[in-house]
Amino acid sequence: MAPVRTCVGCRRRAPKALLVRFASLRGTLTLDPAGLLPGRGAYTCPNAACFERAAGRRAFTRTLRQAVEIPPGISPEG
Ligand SMILES: [Zn+2]
Repeated sequence: MAPVRTCVGCRRRAPKALLVRFASLRGTLTLDPAGLLPGRGAYTCPNAACFERAAGRRAFTRTLRQAVEIPPGISPEG
């Protein structure tokens, strides 16, 4: 079975392949579509609304269990 993850914006569960992974790179939230960064990841749907909601609720910090800076211009939309 395909692995399932939860979008930290809308809380919907979806196959991992349909979500976008973010991880912390030295304290900065970083898009990690290939899943190359080590450590915990946070996933959102590939749309800005879910990303903005997650950022507004500090869901990345909570999910990644560390303070992360969200750089301007970062977006899950390809
Ligand atoms: Zn979502």
